[in-house]
Amino acid sequence: MPFVITDPCIGTKDSACVDVCPVDCIHPRKDEPEFATASMLYIHPDECIDCGACVPACPVAAIYDSPDSTPGSQKGLIEANSVFRVGDADAVAKAESLVSAHVSSHADLMAIAPTERAAAHAK
Ligand code: SF4
Repeated sequence: MPFVITDPCIGTKDSACVDVCPVDCIHPRKDEPEFATASMLYIHPDECIDCGACVPACPVAAIYDSPDSTPGSQKGLIEANSVFRVGDADAVAKAESLVSAHVSSHADLMAIAPTERAAAHAK
C-alpha cells in the first residue's frame, strides 16, 4: 500500500521527503519544471516501497502510510497522488484539478495553518 501526501503539503512543498525517499518516487522535485507551479508534492503509488522514511521528514505531518489510513477528508487526494507525472501535462493538470476540487470543498481545513492542518484531519 503506497504512502499518500495530503493537504498540509498544499502551499508548503517542503521537499524534505524528496531528499529521504530511497526510490525517488516523490515529485515534483525542486529541480523539475513542475515544482514552481505544483500545488503540492505527490507520491507515485506504483514506485513507493512503503519504507516510511518520508513520514518523519515531513514538517507538517502531511503523509499517511496507506490509502486506507488516509482520513476521509483527504480521500480525494489519493487519486491526485496516483495520477501526477512529471513531464505529462495532462496528468499534471488532472492532479492539480483534483487538488483544486479538494481546496474548494474543504475551506474549513484550508483556513487552518499547514502546520496545524493534520491535527484537524481527525475531527
Ligand atoms: Fe518514498 Fe518510502 Fe515515502 Fe514511499 S514510504 S514515498 S518509498 S520515502
